[in-house]
Amino acid sequence: MKHVSLKDFFRRHQFKGLLALLALLMAAALLLPAQKGVAGADYWKCPTCGDTAMGWSNIPNDDGTHTPRCDRCDNEFGAVFCSGGTATCTVKAKCTSCGQFYGDYAAHQYLPSGTAPNCWDSGTMFYTCSLCKYTYSSQLPALGHDYKAAVTTSTCTAVGKIVYTCARCRDTYTTTQFALGHDYKAAVTAPTCTAEGKTVYTCARCADTYTTTQPALGHNLRYDAGRSKAPACVVKGLEAYTCARCGQRQDKVLPWLVHRYGAWAPDGEGHTAACVVCGEPKTVPCEFTEHKVGDAALRLCGVCGQGSFGNQAFTAPMVENASYNRLRLSYAPKNGELVVRRLALPGSADALYIVLLEVGGVSVPTTGAVRITLPVAGEGTFALAQLGADMTPDEIPFTQQEGNLVFDAYLPGLFLLQAAGK
Ligand SMILES: [Zn+2]
Ligand SMILES: [Zn+2]
Ligand SMILES: [Zn+2]
Ligand SMILES: [Zn+2]
Ligand SMILES: [Zn+2]
Ligand SMILES: [Zn+2]
Ligand SMILES: [Zn+2]
Ligand SMILES: [Zn+2]
Repeated sequence: MKHVSLKDFFRRHQFKGLLALLALLMAAALLLPAQKGVAGADYWKCPTCGDTAMGWSNIPNDDGTHTPRCDRCDNEFGAVFCSGGTATCTVKAKCTSCGQFYGDYAAHQYLPSGTAPNCWDSGTMFYTCSLCKYTYSSQLPALGHDYKAAVTTSTCTAVGKIVYTCARCRDTYTTTQFALGHDYKAAVTAPTCTAEGKTVYTCARCADTYTTTQPALGHNLRYDAGRSKAPACVVKGLEAYTCARCGQRQDKVLPWLVHRYGAWAPDGEGHTAACVVCGEPKTVPCEFTEHKVGDAALRLCGVCGQGSFGNQAFTAPMVENASYNRLRLSYAPKNGELVVRRLALPGSADALYIVLLEVGGVSVPTTGAVRITLPVAGEGTFALAQLGADMTPDEIPFTQQEGNLVFDAYLPGLFLLQAAGK
């Protein structure tokens, strides 16, 4: 409300009549009380006119201030801020001094309604002012779940899981973790020569255990020359071995050697030879065979060759380089030595041969025939017969190979070799 002073009014309207003045005074009388201050606080002494009775009017300034003016002298003072009153959302505060509405509207007093959002769905809320019913709405997004995790940890063999449960709506889902698998540590017991080794695997986490075994190494045998001993005649030998790892001895006993004799020499009614290995001499009785040749008796030891024909003693010489082989299905002692002695018959080119296998100075019969290779002198045509106990000849086949006769025979045997056609 614009203030118009009475002085201005008269300045503008002095040509008007008294009625106008009266009308104005009446109007002013109606208006002024509304413009006057309330309460006695405004009845302070005017510094200009000294009045204390008429008081002051607070003239509103339309800008949230009012200007106090002395009702006696119209003197005005500096504007002051309006105050007092209470604003609402529809009405501003009313100044208790000048009566003008000033300041801002108060905030709406909203009451919410509608649908709140939850984990899954969005919500729509309405906010309505309880005073003026002004309403606005708000679309609120879904909240999403508020999952809390419950963890069951994995073990060596069992899968772990995490159960997620929404603290708000109890919705749940589960994730799983692989089992960890065992964390085995090995405890090794090494194998020895005779004991198997083992490795015990134990899980550092759960104590689960299993064992693998390694076979025993077996002795690492080395030939032990210091303890070894060669066999001798009638004395066992020793092939000694000692384990390089554990010292265990593992020996092999070697069978003793049998005496081996060379040629047997006549020695009275026996024959003698020395062992070619150890030198020990041995004497064995002669094995004389007797045959009738005409009226005379032929007495002969095939081993040493001594014999007699009638009253004439002789020694049949050894045939060198004769040899024999065992045939299939025949048996002859392994260490048997072939002895072939030749006895030339007087007055002819014919000869007797005594053939035997001898072991230790004793003749040993063969089982089945053996193949004899017999050197013969000359390139002539021969006839060969084995003689029975009564000297009956039994002709046997032979082949001639490079100065040898090769034939199969049972031993011991007496043979007649005739050089025919000469
Ligand atoms: Zn005054
Ligand atoms: Zn005011
Ligand atoms: Zn309102
Ligand atoms: Zn939820
Ligand atoms: Zn484990
Ligand atoms: Zn060992
Ligand atoms: Zn010997
Ligand atoms: Zn003899």
